[in-house]
Amino acid sequence: MRLDKYLAETSVGRRKEVRILIKDKKIQVNGEIELLPAAEIDEENDIIEYLNHQIKYTRKVYYMFHKPAGCVTARKDLKHTTVLDYFQDVDNNCLFPVGRLDKDTEGLLFITNDGEFNHHLMHPKKHVNKTYFFWAFGELSIEKIQQLEDGIELDSGDFITKKAKLEILRTGLFKELKVEMKENLNDKIKKNRDIQPVISGYLTISEGCKHQVKRMLKAVGCYVIYLRRISIGNVALDDSLKKGDYRELTYEEIELLM
Ligand code: URA
Repeated sequence: MRLDKYLAETSVGRRKEVRILIKDKKIQVNGEIELLPAAEIDEENDIIEYLNHQIKYTRKVYYMFHKPAGCVTARKDLKHTTVLDYFQDVDNNCLFPVGRLDKDTEGLLFITNDGEFNHHLMHPKKHVNKTYFFWAFGELSIEKIQQLEDGIELDSGDFITKKAKLEILRTGLFKELKVEMKENLNDKIKKNRDIQPVISGYLTISEGCKHQVKRMLKAVGCYVIYLRRISIGNVALDDSLKKGDYRELTYEEIELLM
């Protein structure tokens, strides 16, 4: 394994930081200062030291998970299937989800054992973009779209959203379009749905307030009936991942996110 990768998977620092430590001659491999971030090391047998302290290695892991609807974004839950119940083939003891999606929301969720990765993506000051595809009952005028993009007050009355980006894909009556819809819609809503106007689109936000997409659309009179997160930062949900499947993030994807 590369030395910089090895160090970044310990608590020494993130990839960019450990490269600086290597250049500053602070890392020793088997008693010798190593100056090459790409130097190959044997993680089982080599002794790696930072300022003369041997480094304890626990591999950090990063997964891209295609969350299906119906499971909760939690580590444990007495009543519901959790996202970690899908991670039976790996040691899932130290894993946790990065942020949360509602039970009925599908799509991209990262699962990791790296607290710093979580902090980096979730801290409100980092403003990481998250893009959602939605279907909703309702109609959106130019003014409402502008309101959503400029920032809108949510139902709690104490939160105004930051700037967002809305791209409308389709509009029409429910019966005219092939609408994706969550399963547990109540009967009152299902009744007369054929003659309801519906709208689909992409909404990109940089915050993570509870139920934010649903509440933003509700604030302009729309009712979300399907929601899927399709990207976080510059990393998109892998089309080849079926619902409930996961894979490790690539080195390049982790670099894009950190
Ligand atoms: N916004 C929502 O309303 N729900 C989610 O699951 C994620 C964002």
